[in-house]
Amino acid sequence: MPFRIIRNDITKIEVDAVVNAANNSLLGGGGVDGAIHRAAGPELLKECRTLGGCETGDAKITKGYKMPCKYIIHTVGPIWQGGKNSEKEQLYSCYEKSLQLAKDYKCESIAFPLISSGVYGYPKDKALEVAVSAITDFLEENEMDITMVVFDKSAVSVSEKLIADVRKYIDDNYAEEHSDFASRSPFIQSNFKRTELSKGKKLSKAMEPECCDALPFDFDTLDESFSQALLRMIDEKGMTDVQVYKKANIDRRLFSKIRSDVNYKPKKQTAVALAIALELDIFETQKLLEKAGYTLSNSLKFDVIIKYFIENKKYNIMEINETLFTFDQSLIGV
Ligand code: ADP
Repeated sequence: MPFRIIRNDITKIEVDAVVNAANNSLLGGGGVDGAIHRAAGPELLKECRTLGGCETGDAKITKGYKMPCKYIIHTVGPIWQGGKNSEKEQLYSCYEKSLQLAKDYKCESIAFPLISSGVYGYPKDKALEVAVSAITDFLEENEMDITMVVFDKSAVSVSEKLIADVRKYIDDNYAEEHSDFASRSPFIQSNFKRTELSKGKKLSKAMEPECCDALPFDFDTLDESFSQALLRMIDEKGMTDVQVYKKANIDRRLFSKIRSDVNYKPKKQTAVALAIALELDIFETQKLLEKAGYTLSNSLKFDVIIKYFIENKKYNIMEINETLFTFDQSLIGV
């Protein structure tokens, strides 16, 4: 199941379990902790009093009370002391223990704040790195819908070099109005809002399909549906369904729908995520997307960012989503 990052107030999210960045006493504090106690009401404190506190790196569970969640999982992150006092291991453990508790209580969805990154001083980029690594490890073996809720966008700081590269790529490729390729395609049907357009940019050659002599996939099967093409490519890549939907950051149930309904029309984010999971090149991606009625054009920032990753053979969905998030775009998979 998918992992997403959103910017929001965690007390407003509708999930089975919300994680609280608590302190050792579990008796309330500032930041997220204060917000959760205010939203849940005084009954929460009553239950917390019965828990006997919580060790750093550990987690305890209570009911959700007035919050729109069934449970609140209270975990205690480490105080940042420069990084040499097992802060990383303790923070990883917060995510691991919280996810395990959620699983024990049969939660299907969970939302985390960026633990330790407020008053406890853990640098936000490093805190996010630990969160993503713990969550990725958990999702290797388990199914859960996991949301990272960050308050401000600066929490998500993908490497500066990557952002600079993507920004340059956008400057070079982002086209005013419709791209050549897009206007020729009979299939354009984007779900994405057009964001501000940069002026006077030339269309990139990169949007055009390249020569297709050595194509690994045969797309000339015109009557093949998206679902059929996808399943065939999975076989040809020697991948399993599970590998593909996990790598694509897609819910198992959604994948089953695509598999069982030959005419299933996925959302664009889903189709793109599957192309990324299969590590398709730009031409193959365009052909697969066309099967679902989409294309990647140069007039949408989202599309241009996706192209950057495909052309640079960077197929890590977490990294792609962190970048999309940084540029205020919809995430893929999810
Ligand atoms: P800690 O003591 O573990 O550092 P804090 O509550 O001080 O916990 O902060 C953790 C993170 O949660 C910070 O990045 C802060 O910006 C963020 N945060 C604070 N309030 C909320 C909220 N209501 N929803 C989501 N994130 C929040």
